[in-house]
Amino acid sequence: MRRKPLVILIWFFLVIPAASGKDAWTKVQSKNFTIVGNASEGDMRKIAFKLEQFRQTLSLILRKATISTPVPTTVVLFKSDDSFRPFKPRYQGKIKQNVGGYFLPGRFMNYIALNIDKESVNPYEVIFHEYEHFVLHNNLVRLPLWLDEGLAEFYSSFETDGDVKVKIGVPLPQHIYQLRSQPLLPFKTLLSVDHKSPHYNETSKAGMFYAESWALVHYLMNGNEMKRQQQLVTFINLLDSGMTIEQTFQKAFGVDFPTVENELDAYVRRFLFPVLYVTLRQQLNTEKEMTAAQLSEAELQYYQGDLLFRLGQPAEARGFLEKSIELDSKFADGCVALGVLRLAQRQEAEAEKMFQAAIETDSKNYLAHYYYAAIMAGNEKYDEAISHYKQAINLKPDIGLFYSDLGYAYLRTGNENEAIQLFQKGSSIDRKQSHLYRTMGYIHFRRGEVEMSAGDAYNYINTEGWRDEHSQYMLLLWYFSLRQLKKDDFAKTKLLTGLAQLDQTEWPYAVLQYLSGSLSLSDLLTQAKTNDEQTEAHAYAGLDLSLKGERDNALEHLRWVRDNGNRKFVEYQMALAEIVKLESKSQAPLQLTVP
Ligand SMILES: [Zn+2]
Repeated sequence: MRRKPLVILIWFFLVIPAASGKDAWTKVQSKNFTIVGNASEGDMRKIAFKLEQFRQTLSLILRKATISTPVPTTVVLFKSDDSFRPFKPRYQGKIKQNVGGYFLPGRFMNYIALNIDKESVNPYEVIFHEYEHFVLHNNLVRLPLWLDEGLAEFYSSFETDGDVKVKIGVPLPQHIYQLRSQPLLPFKTLLSVDHKSPHYNETSKAGMFYAESWALVHYLMNGNEMKRQQQLVTFINLLDSGMTIEQTFQKAFGVDFPTVENELDAYVRRFLFPVLYVTLRQQLNTEKEMTAAQLSEAELQYYQGDLLFRLGQPAEARGFLEKSIELDSKFADGCVALGVLRLAQRQEAEAEKMFQAAIETDSKNYLAHYYYAAIMAGNEKYDEAISHYKQAINLKPDIGLFYSDLGYAYLRTGNENEAIQLFQKGSSIDRKQSHLYRTMGYIHFRRGEVEMSAGDAYNYINTEGWRDEHSQYMLLLWYFSLRQLKKDDFAKTKLLTGLAQLDQTEWPYAVLQYLSGSLSLSDLLTQAKTNDEQTEAHAYAGLDLSLKGERDNALEHLRWVRDNGNRKFVEYQMALAEIVKLESKSQAPLQLTVP
């Protein structure tokens, strides 16, 4: 009896390595995807084809030119649950068993991991949902949450139907259940849900939000004999036009909220939800453009190690990546991946060597140049940093981050003009880098280029909307820039528009109230509790009083900031600049009137 567990144990050790051990790994390359894995080449081609078809289907809602995505996606395809298990996500150290696949977005590379084994959980819903988010977020800013999640859910049931046909909008049981068991949210509520809303954050409410968002997108795409489909495309194209959501809605659909609300209500109550069949072109090219090759042992170790690192398993990942370099010291991707891992473990010297080695063996590896430059910039070796950032940009000109990091390196060397040019380029290539508008805005304001700072602040708010945590500060920058431009009426209008939209519970709201005249200066100062808040209150009050011509009062507040304020704040710099301006005015020769 006592021997039995031992036998089982031996069996376990003998059998498991053999079952998950040496498989030939293949790599299939299609236009937009790299597929690697131990599944058959035929299965890999099928997945590549399916994903390319999915991208093509997105052109129903996005203009073709805007579907481009500079960040590549690698799909790791496993033939069985056994081989997939070590690469499943973990929760509190334990492997999540009930997972068939996932999507891992990344700054420079996305991973899709997928088990092709038919018996496992259907992984496609989550992958298509997340991949749809990735493409949409890459191309659109200011996406209302109902549309973002509604489209992701709508596309999540994507299915291929032969070589040229696909279907989307297959009804999802969990949403049908929600819609049957609860009344719809009022339309206005649905359309105003954002990342801070309880309808998005609370489990008991989120179900209905997702269900109704899906139903609304389903209606606009498939319902009413598809009369609203093109209008939805127009609506998406108008999203960053600067209009409010009501105006955009009215312009795109030609009707007001209640009209579509009634249409949605009638659509949902029928519970029919027709499926949309789409015929695609160009399917033959997709197949022809694919190439296949066997992975080298070093590449195999690299992909496994890199995926484990991205899954948050650095210790395990390191073993694979070191093996990869041991097998082929000239394999640049392996060197970069190990460098990134060591950088995350704060082993900078070792990371630097890895990036250097990668550049030596493959001077065209843009990530090696980028990371090497980042280390150089961190060590204040700006000339070297600038040279390598530039090489990264030459090799991969469509990544916005390369431009902004090069800009920051120039900024540290004091070359503001070069920095601003790069920030402008970086924000036009990647509109998600809205923080660049903030950086540029404060530089322009400090330099007295207030027409530019007004534009930067406007761009920021237009990109992120009023509810973003920095929007109140951008409204302050916009307001003071406009007042310096002597556009006082316009400044006041924008201030009042902002006050109606912004979150009243957040701190700088009181500053905006003071500027609009609805809060006295002494009340503002009482409301400023911390030194940080006082720094801002005194600085903005000083700027305001200076513009009103109350020089002495202004200087009192600005000097408070100089003597007591938080020196890390932009408001501190603004106060110092204003003091210089006011004090130099007093030294100007007096205009004497000769009698
Ligand atoms: Zn989502």
